[in-house]
Amino acid sequence: MCRHLGYLGPPRAVGELITAGPHSLRDQSWAPRDMRRGGTINADGFGVAWWQGNPGSPDGVQAYRNPAPMWTDPAVDGVLGQVRSGAALAAVRSATVGMPLERAACAPFTGDGWALSHNGRIVGWPDSIAGLAEWLPAVELLRMPALTDSALLWTLVRRRLDAGAPASALASVIADVLEAAPESRLNLLLGNGTTLWATTVYHSLSVRVDEVSAMISSEPIDDDPGWQPVPDGHLVEARPGHLNITELGDHL
Ligand code: GLN
Repeated sequence: MCRHLGYLGPPRAVGELITAGPHSLRDQSWAPRDMRRGGTINADGFGVAWWQGNPGSPDGVQAYRNPAPMWTDPAVDGVLGQVRSGAALAAVRSATVGMPLERAACAPFTGDGWALSHNGRIVGWPDSIAGLAEWLPAVELLRMPALTDSALLWTLVRRRLDAGAPASALASVIADVLEAAPESRLNLLLGNGTTLWATTVYHSLSVRVDEVSAMISSEPIDDDPGWQPVPDGHLVEARPGHLNITELGDHL
């Protein structure tokens, strides 16, 4: 399954962020350690979103995505090495069987200042969650960036972000999907440029926060003793100097 990474802290090159550490996100694209029987490598593309200017503004988030393996793209060390930001969210993809291989299917999905990545799959897609999709206006289904489970999750979360707090948007979408499609794997990573939120539903996740920076990653990128594993069924809220890990059920 895919791997993802979120960062908040002093500005650094986006290309450096996704290649930093002895177990960087780029390394995790071809040698992940903890895939939990959900694939072997993450070679179906990657993406990185970063915030510039005022992170809270709707057009504050930019993204670069490529459906090729991250290790084949010279832009990572080239162009992305020139882009600096203090807020970024990145993902490498291992496409679920039957889902399209295309740029639009690569996380992060971005819009209105938000970025979202999904590590996992909706079991029985798409029939299992047909009832859930029925509640969406047709125009929102037409606006889905790709015909994948992850893009539907983005569409559902995006809608609920308008209605309430990010933690409850994530927790309520997860509860609804798990009810319709039990055993789905739903590690979500959401950012708005100033805070990161992440969930653990049957996949690995670690977090490291100090006074100046915060990083959330499917797998620790280095041996820093500050990394803390996140137990299953939890929601992390992190930014520099702030870490809150709660049960998903607390947000319903
Ligand atoms: N199911 C999603 C996709 O195909 C995410 C895959 C993953 O986590 N490996 O894009």
